[in-house]
Amino acid sequence: MKKNILFLFFFFVVSAKSQTENIIIVTTDGFRWQEVFNGMDTAIAKQWKFNHGDSLEIYQHYWSSDLNERRKKLMPFLWNTIATKGQVYGNRNEGNNINVFNPHWFSYPGYSELLCGFVDTSINSNKYPNNPHSSLLEFFNKQPALKNKVAAFGAWDAFDRILNKERSKIPIINAYDTCGGNHPSSNEKLINEMLHNSVKVLGTEECLDVYTHYEALEYLKKNKPKVLYISYGETDEWAHDSKYRNYLDAAHQVDAYLEQLWNYVQADPQYRNKTTLLITVDHGRGDIKKDEWTSHNNKIKGSDQIWFAVMGPHISAKGEIKNSVQLYQQQLAATMAQIMGYQFKCEHPVAPAIASVIKKS
Ligand SMILES: [Zn+2]
Repeated sequence: MKKNILFLFFFFVVSAKSQTENIIIVTTDGFRWQEVFNGMDTAIAKQWKFNHGDSLEIYQHYWSSDLNERRKKLMPFLWNTIATKGQVYGNRNEGNNINVFNPHWFSYPGYSELLCGFVDTSINSNKYPNNPHSSLLEFFNKQPALKNKVAAFGAWDAFDRILNKERSKIPIINAYDTCGGNHPSSNEKLINEMLHNSVKVLGTEECLDVYTHYEALEYLKKNKPKVLYISYGETDEWAHDSKYRNYLDAAHQVDAYLEQLWNYVQADPQYRNKTTLLITVDHGRGDIKKDEWTSHNNKIKGSDQIWFAVMGPHISAKGEIKNSVQLYQQQLAATMAQIMGYQFKCEHPVAPAIASVIKKS
């Protein structure tokens, strides 16, 4: 009997240890599943209008004739770590289809679908005002265990509206916002100074990813949020600019940012083995007509095709998912809630969680 009690105690300690208590949600705007699963695309890289005379650099960094090697060169952390410890969805070559459910196939509708867990078709513009619908982040921030432990960092300033900063009261630092509040750390002071004195390469609505990343990383170390959302934007910007090397470099850099976040998480007692990392996108881009890789909207076939990857204590190590299935972006909100031990309920309907992410075996 004593033995059994001891065993039960041990069991509960072990299973309690494997709970997700924190989640880091990452998006990289409009990065295609084609590059995630196939690596660099030579049909794009060889064209002068996309390589601008600099194809050597692209091939040196990202080319291999072996598919597995090629995609690892582009996203080494995703393929070496997440794909061995977690799950990667969206390889349509294997029939694993993930799509956005909204009919628009661009950013605001995509982020709203992802973060609210449902589609309101009237959200049809990137200039759309404050989102009338509650997001998962707002729901998390209402839970007693997570209250004031939710934050968002975005390269693009639209997240104030997408996450309805006014109503949700979640700290949201976007684009050229100053970070660190009234008591910035020395790192935050330096980030702010560099941000404001930087060349505004992407205009005044969006900053380069490096600023957003270091703002978020510093916040993670200083404020220890339980829910952190980071939205990188360069992958979309360089694609619209027809700059394939920059597009690949931006994705390669996001992969390095993920590794840096994960290394910090796994070295910190609050986060180690209690944190899930999920990475996805707001929309895909064209591919059938190769020239359309630069763009995305509902007239460009394939720009509703997306992917996601997830790793954490709840997530069994299934690796690259190769079964034939159709899943939707709107299912990720309930999935993330479930990973954190909650059922996402609010004033609007929520699409069902993806059972295979959480299910053992
Ligand atoms: Zn775009």
